[in-house]
Amino acid sequence: MSYTVTLIPGDGIGPELAEATTRVLEATGIGFDWDRQEAGEATIASEGTPLPDRVVQSIRTNGIGLKGPITTPVGTGFRSVNVSLRKELELYANVRPARTMAGVESRYENVDLIIVRENTEDLYAGVEHMVGPDAAESIKIITRAASQRIARYAFEYAVKNGRRKVTAVHKANIMKLSDGLFLESAQQVAAEYAGRVEFEDRIVDNMCMQLVQKPELYDVLVLPNLYGDIVSDLAAGLVGGLGVAPGANIGEKAAVFEPVHGSAPKYAGQNKANPTALILSGALMLRHLGETDAAAAVETAVRDVIAEGQTVTYDLGGSAGTSEYADAVAARIGSLR
Ligand code: NAD
Repeated sequence: MSYTVTLIPGDGIGPELAEATTRVLEATGIGFDWDRQEAGEATIASEGTPLPDRVVQSIRTNGIGLKGPITTPVGTGFRSVNVSLRKELELYANVRPARTMAGVESRYENVDLIIVRENTEDLYAGVEHMVGPDAAESIKIITRAASQRIARYAFEYAVKNGRRKVTAVHKANIMKLSDGLFLESAQQVAAEYAGRVEFEDRIVDNMCMQLVQKPELYDVLVLPNLYGDIVSDLAAGLVGGLGVAPGANIGEKAAVFEPVHGSAPKYAGQNKANPTALILSGALMLRHLGETDAAAAVETAVRDVIAEGQTVTYDLGGSAGTSEYADAVAARIGSLR
């Protein structure tokens, strides 16, 4: 079995992380035909845009993309490539697992969270305007269709991945209509899964306190866009930060897998950055493709190499380069096969 995947190496540290990641994924024995598509700073100069249409077309055709970080140029008027891709491809679910790992410094030991963020509406719909010179208004859009769709995604994820509970996060005590509709939609979907997956809800401010005090009580969280953006960074912080935090953007027709971190320009080209977040994003991609054994092999190999601590990158207290670490992970996958 071989998969054609759109590979967007990206900017800054992106290309070296992409090289490391493709090597690790190929070590699983699964065949990949990488449809390499440049996007970002380089294509602004050569094609006049950071997101040429051919990139979107490639993901549309292949249905799957693996993406490195892309620098968002400040002050050029170009929209973030990441936001544009989510919009163009209707990638409605942003999924970020946050799990503690031996060898990655964290204040916690037993965190295993899946953050499912609605990616298309809420205050991020970009509908805002000035009301006279001294006031501004942003419109928060919440629809039943998008809320039910994201809740259903969270419950289906729970069922497929053996998770026990979904918690809907909201501020329906204050925003009774918009967040009230989000909560009501989640409750309606939850009823379809009664007896299979537990359901509860939390007000977002209380949720933040609870996550800091007792994160081990929570499992899958489903949130509207803004709370999801904030709480997913909180969750990444609980488990040791950016270098190890993977992500997925899922739509009906396409999915794009990418690390949470950015292009870290100061480390570009130095064979120094940690490729774990992109490698684990690749594992999420394998799971999405139904290649669960290969996904588990990648995750186990990453965990083992990091727990041993001998061949890890600077941010995890080691001195290995990007490619040396990737070699160690690939070799470990080989020994697991
Ligand atoms: P960043 O995540 O690039 O870097 C912040 C710091 O985190 C780095 O200086 C570095 O110390 C550390 N870091 C990040 N990734 C690492 C890795 N893989 N290994 C080791 N250390 C790592 O955030 P930033 O500096 O705010 O953003 C830089 C650029 O990236 C900006 O243009 C921003 O818009 C863009 N960005 C892109 C994405 C994306 O493509 N999805 C996401 C966030 C930021």
